[in-house]
Amino acid sequence: MSKLNSLFRKTNKSSSTARAVPTDDTSLEPGLKGHGTDNKPANTPIEQTRWNGWGNVNTNKKVSAHGAKLIKAHIGKTKKLPSVSLQEVLKTVPKSRLPSAITELDMVSTDSEVRLRHARGQSFPDWIAMHGGDFEVFPDGVAHPQSTADVQTLLQLAEEHDLIVIPFGGGTSVAGHINPQKGSRPVLTVAMSKMDQLIDLDTESQIATFGAGTQGPAVEAQLGEYGYRLGHYPQSWELSTLGGWIAARSSGQQSLGYGRIEQLFAGGTLVTPQGVLNIADIPASSAGPDLREMMMGSEGRAGIFTEVKMRVQPQPIEELFKVAFLPNWEAGKEVLRQAVQSNIRLSMLRLSNAVETDAHLHLGTSPSQFLAISTYLKARGLGSDKVMLTYGVSGDKAQNKLALTQFNKLLKQHGSVTGKITDIMGNVWAHGRFKFPYLRGTLWDKGIMVDTFETATNWNNIDEQMQQMQEAVKTSLADENEHVMAFTHISHVYKQGASLYTTYFFRAAKDHAMTLKRWQKIKHAASSSVANGKATISHQHGVGRDHAPYLAAEKGNLGIQVTRDMLKSLDPEQRMNPGVLLEEQQTS
Ligand SMILES: Cc1cc2nc3c(=O)[nH]c(=O)nc-3n(C[C@H](O)[C@H](O)[C@H](O)COP(=O)(O)OP(=O)(O)OC[C@H]3O[C@@H](n4cnc5c(N)ncnc54)[C@H](O)[C@@H]3O)c2cc1C
Repeated sequence: MSKLNSLFRKTNKSSSTARAVPTDDTSLEPGLKGHGTDNKPANTPIEQTRWNGWGNVNTNKKVSAHGAKLIKAHIGKTKKLPSVSLQEVLKTVPKSRLPSAITELDMVSTDSEVRLRHARGQSFPDWIAMHGGDFEVFPDGVAHPQSTADVQTLLQLAEEHDLIVIPFGGGTSVAGHINPQKGSRPVLTVAMSKMDQLIDLDTESQIATFGAGTQGPAVEAQLGEYGYRLGHYPQSWELSTLGGWIAARSSGQQSLGYGRIEQLFAGGTLVTPQGVLNIADIPASSAGPDLREMMMGSEGRAGIFTEVKMRVQPQPIEELFKVAFLPNWEAGKEVLRQAVQSNIRLSMLRLSNAVETDAHLHLGTSPSQFLAISTYLKARGLGSDKVMLTYGVSGDKAQNKLALTQFNKLLKQHGSVTGKITDIMGNVWAHGRFKFPYLRGTLWDKGIMVDTFETATNWNNIDEQMQQMQEAVKTSLADENEHVMAFTHISHVYKQGASLYTTYFFRAAKDHAMTLKRWQKIKHAASSSVANGKATISHQHGVGRDHAPYLAAEKGNLGIQVTRDMLKSLDPEQRMNPGVLLEEQQTS
């Protein structure tokens, strides 16, 4: 109660900060209320989400007929894979192995559907398992703690009964972070969804304390009530959580303006098997290695974040998103590099290469809209090499005006085309940005398999890395005479370099197992293309199980050893999410 009192005491509700975020009725807009009862912003209940796919059961995204045709022109005719029913999978959930000391706790459920819904994330192998019905392993139970003390109790009992513990945020991992593995130790998944409230808001220091299980919309809705914003918008924002963002070192679409999670996470409470680690929220320190940095990216292996302190700021007065087209990739890349290196105050930059530009124009439009845009761009001299650049400003009007003036000058110097039509496209992007992930299910139902691969590298290696990554992906199924379609964008820029995000499409094979084999070949080819010491195995999705075999190429053997030793000092029995981040055998 005292914390809530302090929330109201410290917060000046009548502060002069205005809300800039549009408030139409789409449930995926930043700044809107969450889904709690009594108008209290809260997380989306897991039952309202798809058990075998992405997102809210009531949200869908159609693919245009000419968009699907374009993909099929690259990969060939496709056939849908069959999908098992929830009832069929529920029959495969075995009896829980948890001892009664655990199952008797009110916060622990051994219900089959609850266990099933916490067994898999959103990686490609997860989708194959969810549609093919072979989940392999289910957690033996799922705990829903409501406080740090609850989590301490759970870890204490986990030690007494020798359990494996898997921290679970939104379950949006795309790298196999939360999947239980076979082994003799029972598995308890700790789902953080009930710790979804703003606990304290210190407006003087601009630090908000939240339950670590708070999902994106609930974070912004609760801060929005006081005129504040975190500004972290990964594309999984609808369901992913603060704890997951910190533990997997996430990056949001407006990282240019608001920073990555590393800049936003101030400190907080991490419950480890060796005790509680309190990470101070001091703004900067030269007092030795930084515990805050050391625990970010720990992927559930060091402990469980329960309360996290986030660096927030007043909501912007004005926020705009726009689109520009440039003649080719080289011109677009130069605009990005020069904009970030000359400190133009934009909040986002995203550049699609020519193939992605063409695909987006097909996928996101009707044939008549496509024709109108193509004709408009052609009349202004842009051909098939054209690239689409999406950008945003968030701030007060004077700041935005200055940034747009500077940026427009840069755009013009590089032959850009902008106008009313591209402004509309910017708005369309902003309003639909969290709906893109729903396309995956729509394409899946057409037998079109889609996944992504992402990395980051320095500016001097961007072109070569993109080339290598795309070539590796495109040729990875040549032995089966299968074609893979691939395209790339940059969506996070830094003075020294940028992220590269490749999306690829391929055909489903005869069955789920063979389709998974195809994906494994593509994944290996893509992962090997970054194991060159110049690019990272992941810029934003983390390591999980899928990237763990490639981590040593980036960190070196000594780096892996240091990380292993650090984690072992907090978790000597290796009960916290073993096998994630660092490859190793479970002790059984
Ligand atoms: C459609 C889609 C789009 C995506 N877009 C982006 C994007 O734009 N940017 C980006 O960065 N990522 C993106 N991702 C990946 C994913 O959303 C991120 O990795 C995110 O950080 C995971 O958060 P989560 O809450 O879902 O965590 P989970 O998936 O539940 O868990 C991820 C890891 O964090 C650990 N963990 C979770 N909560 C805690 C806690 N409280 N304490 C300790 N450990 C914890 C888990 O054990 C696990 O190792 C996307 C995923 C999908 C499916």
